[in-house]
Amino acid sequence: MTGGRAQASGRFDLIVLGAGPAGSAAAMSAIQAGLRVALVDKARFPRNKLCGGGLTGRAISRYRQTFGGTLPPVPLERRDMFTFHAYGQPLGDSRDAPPLHLGMRYELDAALVEQALAAGAVDFTGQSGGLDPDGPALDLPGGRIEAPLMIAADGVNSPTARTLFGAAFDRARIGFALEVEHPGADPDRPLRIDFGAADWGYGWQFPKPRGTTVGLGGVMSRNADMKAALARYLDQLGLPDTLPVKGQFLPFGDFRAVPGKGRILLAGDAAGLVDPITGEGIAHALDSGALAARAACRALEDAAPDKALAAYTHTLRPIHRGLRHARLLRNLMFRETLRPAFIRSFRSSRTLRGEYLRMMAGETDYGPLMQKMAARLPGFAWRAVSGT
Ligand SMILES: Cc1cc2nc3c(=O)[nH]c(=O)nc-3n(C[C@H](O)[C@H](O)[C@H](O)COP(=O)(O)OP(=O)(O)OC[C@H]3O[C@@H](n4cnc5c(N)ncnc54)[C@H](O)[C@@H]3O)c2cc1C
Repeated sequence: MTGGRAQASGRFDLIVLGAGPAGSAAAMSAIQAGLRVALVDKARFPRNKLCGGGLTGRAISRYRQTFGGTLPPVPLERRDMFTFHAYGQPLGDSRDAPPLHLGMRYELDAALVEQALAAGAVDFTGQSGGLDPDGPALDLPGGRIEAPLMIAADGVNSPTARTLFGAAFDRARIGFALEVEHPGADPDRPLRIDFGAADWGYGWQFPKPRGTTVGLGGVMSRNADMKAALARYLDQLGLPDTLPVKGQFLPFGDFRAVPGKGRILLAGDAAGLVDPITGEGIAHALDSGALAARAACRALEDAAPDKALAAYTHTLRPIHRGLRHARLLRNLMFRETLRPAFIRSFRSSRTLRGEYLRMMAGETDYGPLMQKMAARLPGFAWRAVSGT
């Protein structure tokens, strides 16, 4: 890996803690703005990250904005045909949809870190240490590193959020997801999304260049036996249930309204930025990392690091609004009494399916999708969703 692993202690303009998509994007953006950046991760890259590895058009466009190039330089499967099911019933296909690119996070994240290090971030990967939130500073094995500002992108279990707020997330609202990797490329296997495969959640079958990732995720408190749900789902897809199963928390729309404290800004999963319907988090991780870095740069230029958090929170407003809309819409898709109306509308309307895919691609947001849904719903269902 480029950049050389740093051992020395020192003072930086910015510490980025966590080098997943949010952290790498933060480091890359800050370097581009001329800051001296320490990029810290407890893991050495490449490292595994449990994930479907689905890159929507929104994620690709965020990648381009920060890292340049057309696509991340890793093996990717490109699919523009989607098959939808809900509660075991087929909802129809969508052809010529905005494409989804599918890859392995093991490769994707290593490529992003490599780009950030090649651009000039100082490499503190493979190291972790105690956080001093008042610094902010980190006591690493090689010594103490300090900066006027820190971006913590240390994932859903964020030790930083635990230090700042006492817990990384709210157990009553958090999501949980399980996944298996089915080895061997299978070009005929459709890209498939199953709403309701987990309660208040969905299942996915994502074909990749060297295998298929199958998983399901939903609100944890509503899924007493997610392993049994996964076994049923694998059976439905005709896949063996003997593959090793891995699980991880998923923020699922439970975001922090104020993402950080003092001079520490939280980005990506650490700030809870995952869509509660699609489970998509990579695009928001890339976006929030870059936005946090820009807020940090401006605050440093103004010699006012204490103002970075408020500025960052302001720029996250469109993401927060989208997540709030998605939480409303989720009531319609998953609430038992409203399901028939949702299934009927989604199955009979090509426009609605197309709008959903355009939303996933980042070509539109939840507002127009909700309007289209409202037009097709009985009044009682719409009132139940919107609370009017
Ligand atoms: C099963 C599953 C499937 C998913 N599928 C998709 C999908 O198909 N598409 C999509 O867009 N999103 C998906 N997501 C969501 C997506 O994985 C996350 O939103 C995304 O990884 C968030 O990126 P991040 O950079 O915030 O965090 P992460 O990618 O989790 O990176 C956090 C980093 O912090 C480091 N770290 C943690 N603690 C410390 C510490 N104490 N010190 C130093 N470093 C530390 C970790 O090593 C890690 O590298 C899925 C999630 C799950 C669980």
